[in-house]
Amino acid sequence: MISEYDLHAHSTASDGALSPAELVRQARACGVKNLALTDHDTTDGLAEARASAEENGITLIPGIELSVTWQQRCIHIIGLNIDPDYAPLQEGIVGLRNMRLSRAVEMGARLQKKGIENAYEGALQLAGKGMITRTHFARYLVDHGHAGSFQNAFDRFLGAGKPGFVVTRWTDLEEAIGWINGAGGTAVVAHPLRYKLTGAWLCRLLDAFKQCGGVGIEIVCGSSSGNDIRCAAEQARRFDLLGSVGSDYHSPEKPWIQLGRLPPLPNSITPVWSVWPRPRH
Ligand code: AMP
Ligand code: MN
Ligand code: MN
Ligand code: MN
Repeated sequence: MISEYDLHAHSTASDGALSPAELVRQARACGVKNLALTDHDTTDGLAEARASAEENGITLIPGIELSVTWQQRCIHIIGLNIDPDYAPLQEGIVGLRNMRLSRAVEMGARLQKKGIENAYEGALQLAGKGMITRTHFARYLVDHGHAGSFQNAFDRFLGAGKPGFVVTRWTDLEEAIGWINGAGGTAVVAHPLRYKLTGAWLCRLLDAFKQCGGVGIEIVCGSSSGNDIRCAAEQARRFDLLGSVGSDYHSPEKPWIQLGRLPPLPNSITPVWSVWPRPRH
């Protein structure tokens, strides 16, 4: 059950626990041969990951996980095999960083109204130079005794509709896919079953995604059941999409999700990497 490809993973450049170099070493130790670093709305970890991949003899696929607002929902679109120097992509992610910073200020203010002090400052410190995310707020809430676990922090404070939640208008689907395609990359819908869309809404999303120039869908995720994989594969066939596999690895604190520990793509699916002429180095 070890996949040579793991095309979805996070580092300290966003909400992962390992530095880009540590992540690459861990991937290699797990038997991964092709790793995509896909941090939330940033490419800042790619240079370090690439250098480490060269040292460790594995292939680093430069990636990103973009936050998109589509029909008032937050959807994640992964860009794989991108040229991180593509200027419109970099300009776009500056905008996303600013949105994340102002959202974090607002989250801090809302949490303060619930009697939680310094959440913004605390989350910012935990994020360091990386992109600030709700994961950093969750960590702060757990560390300061306001929540018993990450899940509890999301359930009580950070999830949609909870007191610390701030509705954010991220980039739109067409723009995100435009940045990825402009950067020479492959756009993939991340974890399609995690949005809890009805069948009809998932079809609408995939239809819109294709019309905007998207080509792939994540079929195998770190937490996929056999049924999830069958469901996502059916959508891939229906919409003629390439299939991706990625653990969405964040941290050794969730030992049930390991880099590369992924069931295989169903035989009927064409893998995203089959359209890549060769990995970028
Ligand atoms: P953000 O992009 O800042 O809204 O943060 C979203 C991140 O929070 C996701 O990428 C996950 O890593 C994490 N997350 C979301 N929901 C949960 C949850 N219920 N439990 C733990 N982590 C979560
Ligand atoms: Mn995350
Ligand atoms: Mn995601
Ligand atoms: Mn992710």
